[in-house]
Amino acid sequence: PKKALIVGSGIAGIATAIHLAVKGYAVEVFEANAGPGGKLTQFEQEGYRFDAGPSLFTMPQYVDELFKLAGKTPADFFRYQKLDVVCQYFYEDGTTLTAYADADKFAAEVNRVTGEPMEAIKKYQAKSRDIYSITNHVFLEQSLHRLKTYLSWDTLRSVLKLPRIDALRTMHKANEDFFKDDRMVQFYDRYATYNGSNPYTAPATLNVIPHLEQHYGAYFPEGGMYSITNSLVKLATSLGVIFHYNSPVDEVVLKDLRVEGLNVKGGFIPGDLVISNMDVWFTYHKLLKAHPSLFPKKILSQERSSSALIFYWGIKKPFPELDLHNIFFGTDYKAEFDHIWKEKDIYHDPTIYLNISSKYKTDDAPEDCENWFTMINVPANTGQNWDELIATARENILKKLTRILGDDIEELIVCESILDPRSIESRTSSYQGSLYGTSSNSQFAAFLRHANRSSKIKNLYFCGGSVHPGGGIPLCLLSAKIVSELL
Ligand code: FAD
Repeated sequence: PKKALIVGSGIAGIATAIHLAVKGYAVEVFEANAGPGGKLTQFEQEGYRFDAGPSLFTMPQYVDELFKLAGKTPADFFRYQKLDVVCQYFYEDGTTLTAYADADKFAAEVNRVTGEPMEAIKKYQAKSRDIYSITNHVFLEQSLHRLKTYLSWDTLRSVLKLPRIDALRTMHKANEDFFKDDRMVQFYDRYATYNGSNPYTAPATLNVIPHLEQHYGAYFPEGGMYSITNSLVKLATSLGVIFHYNSPVDEVVLKDLRVEGLNVKGGFIPGDLVISNMDVWFTYHKLLKAHPSLFPKKILSQERSSSALIFYWGIKKPFPELDLHNIFFGTDYKAEFDHIWKEKDIYHDPTIYLNISSKYKTDDAPEDCENWFTMINVPANTGQNWDELIATARENILKKLTRILGDDIEELIVCESILDPRSIESRTSSYQGSLYGTSSNSQFAAFLRHANRSSKIKNLYFCGGSVHPGGGIPLCLLSAKIVSELL
């Protein structure tokens, strides 16, 4: 069989390995870290388990699809449950709002809390669904970089409907024009952060994102987020994929603009094709640094998505008013995003996302305790004084949570770990520590993401959050599928 070499065992690398093994390739994965998963890993500290990266699981069908592809029943290997409450929202004015998964219940809740008519919510959701139906097939599920895509009837139909995807206004403008209540504007603006973008500049096309969560639902994997990585690695291994850990790839070896193999820890590994799951910026700047004339300069210079600052706290008290996903909004969303995108620092009153997996997986924390994943959005790493920014942010976060929850949170912290843009960059080779590759702050972003196949180097392919169709688990899984279809 032909030999496929994959650089990196992020979720897209693992999924690509499964696709190719099913297709009959001999697949080997080389991973720099001691274990698989990239951003999707876990760690334990003093009796608390933490999922290190992603915490919101949407579109589980893309994971199931991989088991089905291999002829297996997904539920035998990977189980998850649909959330009835997607997220609990806390506003600084004392408002709390529960985002129910059930559309009628959610519309009633919004009406009760903000006075927005229930029909307004339904109408907004219909608009979001409409954008999805126009964009999904063309922009997400296939390569944007081959002629076939543009010659299909599906694409033509979508192109005719393009004015409906609302690409000429910003997300914020569309939300502000639609809702009377500022709290709902902020609620829907927040979805820009699902791919690390800025609602005040990103096109209103991104108002498609709520559809994924509100229509398809949010889920929790029974074994925590890490079980996505774990179960897919098991599946890949059962298909004959070989994983090499502690094996950083140094170079993609070329001959006459064709891939010959990889250099790993000083040894040459021959292969028929190479798929890089390493961030595309580093793939060029590290693995192909001998060939600067082959760099797609415009694509590599695109603005990066935002990064994150996370405090993983073991907390020695249960908080029944909190759910699995919780948001504590800041008061001035515009100022918050200006700080992230213009000042490149952290606003003093940031919106806090708090994830507590022990609400569903009780053994993630000792009895009567909770594992808090406390995250704020921060700029990508361009050499800021992070130690200073982190110390100030920690103080501000603790003050805000203490005020809203009425308990001295610092007193309750049993153990602490911190992840910041520098460590995200160094642990997973993500350029500038960005979470989702390039940002979607412009209408053209979809076209300026790197393709899943190199146009200049034969047999070189790309998967993962830094290339088409984009970041986040569902899109990473789609990138793997597109690579497989391109072969
Ligand atoms: P990555 O996870 O980036 O992994 C790449 C792998 O390649 C790494 O293991 C790295 O070690 C390896 N590698 C790099 N260079 C080399 C080399 N030279 N040799 C060998 N190996 C190499 N997404 C969601 O869907 N929902 C969320 O709630 C969510 N929240 C997030 C929160 C945080 C804090 C973070 C960091 C991300 C979040 N994301 C979320 C985004 C999601 O985690 C990513 O989009 C996705 O996991 C990226 O997967 P990937 O396949 O691109 O590879």
